[in-house]
Amino acid sequence: MPQSLYWNLDKDDKELCEEIRAGIPYYTMTDDNGTVIEQVLIPISDELQIHLKRGRKGEYTFEMIPVIYQKVEDIFALPVERSPYLDIIKATNNPLLAHAFVDAFKKSFDFTRLRKGEKIAIAYEEKIRLGHPWGLPVIKAATIHTRRKKTWLFRFGDRYYNEKGREVEGFLFRKPVNHVRITSRFTLRRWHPILHRYRAHLGVDFGGRTGTPIYAAADGRIIFAGRLGGYGNVIKIRHRDGFMTLYAHMHKFRRGMHKGKYVKKGQVIGYIGSTGMSTGPHLHFGLYKNGRPINPLGVIKVTKKSLYGKRRKEFIRYEKSMKKRLEKAVESNKRPKKLDDLSRIDYCVDDNTSKGG
Ligand SMILES: [Zn+2]
Repeated sequence: MPQSLYWNLDKDDKELCEEIRAGIPYYTMTDDNGTVIEQVLIPISDELQIHLKRGRKGEYTFEMIPVIYQKVEDIFALPVERSPYLDIIKATNNPLLAHAFVDAFKKSFDFTRLRKGEKIAIAYEEKIRLGHPWGLPVIKAATIHTRRKKTWLFRFGDRYYNEKGREVEGFLFRKPVNHVRITSRFTLRRWHPILHRYRAHLGVDFGGRTGTPIYAAADGRIIFAGRLGGYGNVIKIRHRDGFMTLYAHMHKFRRGMHKGKYVKKGQVIGYIGSTGMSTGPHLHFGLYKNGRPINPLGVIKVTKKSLYGKRRKEFIRYEKSMKKRLEKAVESNKRPKKLDDLSRIDYCVDDNTSKGG
């Protein structure tokens, strides 16, 4: 494949090429002899993938197309034997689900107080792609029933709330820049009606003057500081709980900011610039959870939020129905489906040869 294919890409597509991750399965299709690559599919997020295709004259084209997947759901209850984490893995073969459960309750429940025989119940959603789990499972609601009390969690929008509709506080980040405006928001996938193609923006852009200081969004360790193609000068910081932040297009790094360095939340790490594929000085700020891009604006916050008005009414309705289903699962000891069985549900064949899936 000619390198010019990459070099001729526009700014947005080049930026997205930096999102190709090690460890993600990709697919190639060759001709009958196995010598010429006809097509390649490389996911850049749960929602979008790069599609390289060979034309009749041997030229290659590049386009972004949606990843086709199917959503499956399960709801189940388990008595605690060893720990929720180990029990969920044993019952479902799904370590990511176990991780999501523990993560969601970490701030509102002390797991060391759980005793054998007490119960947990989970309603969740899993994506299946070509017969394999895809992306992260999403817990829609969950509960822990101890002898003394019941603790509940409900996912509403992108956040978790308790049964009173108060948001359960997660990991907190600060804004990486002060007094700048957002010029581009996060989107996993959108159809551009004029360009007639799929786009994604896996971070938030803050427009600002060259030289404006950039702050570490949370405590962590720098795992990368250097040049990264379309993203220009980049610093990546690893934080606890599987979070990683990325700061791109930086003018320069602050002295001493190199791989391995531990930084505190709010510490200046560098300055806004326009390096890489960029049309003007701005900070591209990316946030990743377990390697997957998530919306940074969902976790940057100052105070805990409660739901009001119409949203609150919607929440109460959702909460009631989920509560009922979880209670029922606990009463009937509803066993979980194993991940392998969920994956076997007759899935759609991923027809990626047609435009837009
Ligand atoms: Zn950006």
